[in-house]
Amino acid sequence: MEFVCRRCTSLTTKPYRVTTEDGGVVLLNMLVCPSCARLAKSLGLPTVKMEPAKSAARTRARPPMTDSKQRPVQPPPSIR
Ligand SMILES: [Zn+2]
Repeated sequence: MEFVCRRCTSLTTKPYRVTTEDGGVVLLNMLVCPSCARLAKSLGLPTVKMEPAKSAARTRARPPMTDSKQRPVQPPPSIR
């Protein structure tokens, strides 16, 4: 998954989220590339690496269908 940095507009596959809070108010919340994240970190901004862990959770998002009676009946495509 490619992603365009919001700061330098370079393509990256490992986005970082940079957030700035002041008194509980979020002033900044943007996705940046690793080099911009490193810059933000050097400025003392909190950076969080975005983990691509969504694919593992996606398979479990569907509720288990154990009751076959409740299975939604799909109309067959008209191939006639
Ligand atoms: Zn960048």
